[in-house]
Amino acid sequence: MDLFNKCYAYELADKYKEMGLYPYFHALETKQDIEVVMEGKRRIMIGSNNYLGLTGDQRIIDAGVEAIKNFGSGVSGSRFLNGTLTIHLQLENELAEFLNKEACMTFSTGYQTNLGIISAIAGRNDLIFCDRENHASIYDGARLSFAKMVRYKHNDMEDLEKRLAEANPETGKLIVTDGVFSMTGDICNLPEIVRLAKKYGARVMVDDAHGLGVLGKSGRGTAEYFGLEDEVDIIMGTFSKSLASLGGYMVADTKVVDYVRHKSRPFIFCAAITPANARTALEALRILKAEPQRPKRLLEVADYVRKSLINKGLKIIDHSIVPIIPIYTYTVLRTMVACKILYERGVYVNPVVPPATPEGECLIRTSYTSTHTFKLMDEAVEIIADVLNNLPEDEEELLKVLE
Ligand code: PMP
Repeated sequence: MDLFNKCYAYELADKYKEMGLYPYFHALETKQDIEVVMEGKRRIMIGSNNYLGLTGDQRIIDAGVEAIKNFGSGVSGSRFLNGTLTIHLQLENELAEFLNKEACMTFSTGYQTNLGIISAIAGRNDLIFCDRENHASIYDGARLSFAKMVRYKHNDMEDLEKRLAEANPETGKLIVTDGVFSMTGDICNLPEIVRLAKKYGARVMVDDAHGLGVLGKSGRGTAEYFGLEDEVDIIMGTFSKSLASLGGYMVADTKVVDYVRHKSRPFIFCAAITPANARTALEALRILKAEPQRPKRLLEVADYVRKSLINKGLKIIDHSIVPIIPIYTYTVLRTMVACKILYERGVYVNPVVPPATPEGECLIRTSYTSTHTFKLMDEAVEIIADVLNNLPEDEEELLKVLE
């Protein structure tokens, strides 16, 4: 049997392309911003994780250019060996200080950060308690660790407690949760997770990819938001969202970070973050520290849009405060048609379909930036409401809309 048979037989993407509904890989011709040019046309960008609007900030661009001039385009090696630059250390020191933890280490992507931490910390005989809606990289990290994964119902603390109580008290336990869930915008129940961890002798790790620069008075994330920074054992995050770059980090006690630094295969066997990425993340961090009004303004934008969408009669997931606002489109076809029409009308949003959501609960994931203006948001909401409120229920009618 030819291993490639499945590739030649794979038709789903082609089917959507033929129908003119394929929503992926649209290329930008400009930098990531609140408005972009994609495939020759202006689009309002509400599908990006550029939460603080910093990817195009001149200070950050200048810092990145300067880093390339000083350190070259790449590091040609692992952090472990020849790939450690002074700017990596500066970034780690400033992050640890900002996040009130003893130590920090950085990884080449956020995805790898979860792989690298979890596979180093947990082993064959340990248990990982994982929220069902955690990010894929947490699942993949758990697989790489060979530990036993115990999945608990999304944000369901009773279910988590039940599973913790069933576990052998002698087994090493890690509870891992997204701080802010990437698809729904839900915030984890950190106070209860911390309480249960203490009660059952587990360690707590928070993936704050969508929390940093978003939650907390200083934008330090989910743990700051709940006043629980000292109670969370490991916080990880990424540079690809609020910090306008690429890479990821872990903060924890010195001994824990040092252990991961010497045991983590995704860290050791991978080239380090490029000079430009390290330096731009550092500059973005400095801007976040100097301009705490950015996260504040971000939540104001989110609040404004959330209320505007509800006023227009749209069905959204509305029990959060973060700048991730999912709008229900229910079926795959409805989602694809809605994305296509919105794109044509100049609004970029992301489709969320199975396996990312349960069947029949498809969404359009919209996300916002602290530099979005209310005027631009009015324009986007007007278009979204016009498109979604006028989509026919019937699937055949739906396809006719495209003709
Ligand atoms: N964790 C979460 C919760 C995420 O949403 C993402 C990215 N979407 C990652 C980790 C991975 O981060 P990166 O894309 O920066 O590798």
